[in-house]
Amino acid sequence: METFTVSTGRKCAFIDITATVAETVAQSGIRDGIVVVFVPHTTAGVTINENADPAVKSDILAHLDDAVPQSSRYTHMEGNSPAHIKASMMGSSVTVLLQDGALVLGVWQGIYLCEFDGPRTRKVHVEIRQ
Ligand code: ZN
Repeated sequence: METFTVSTGRKCAFIDITATVAETVAQSGIRDGIVVVFVPHTTAGVTINENADPAVKSDILAHLDDAVPQSSRYTHMEGNSPAHIKASMMGSSVTVLLQDGALVLGVWQGIYLCEFDGPRTRKVHVEIRQ
């Protein structure tokens, strides 16, 4: 398993980690198989979505805010329940196929670390299996 870190500059952000995942995979020497990208955090997640129009990222963030308001009947003492809920909505891992040394992503797809309680330094684990 390989691990890299990402510094998230804001409270909530989608950070494109596709290139770093691809570099990590290239260094492994494995050319065909399955890549699992796992984020070991409870207030950050990972997802795959459009990497062309940045409005898609901001629309997702805005609508997650609408779905999970900052103020509600939360009971979690730490006060960051919205971040926990959004992280679960996005999930903590994605799986990508690997073929001929390349991630098999759609033309418009990118892999995003989803920060909901930043800014922080987040870990991303990458497991590559033939
Ligand atoms: Zn918490």
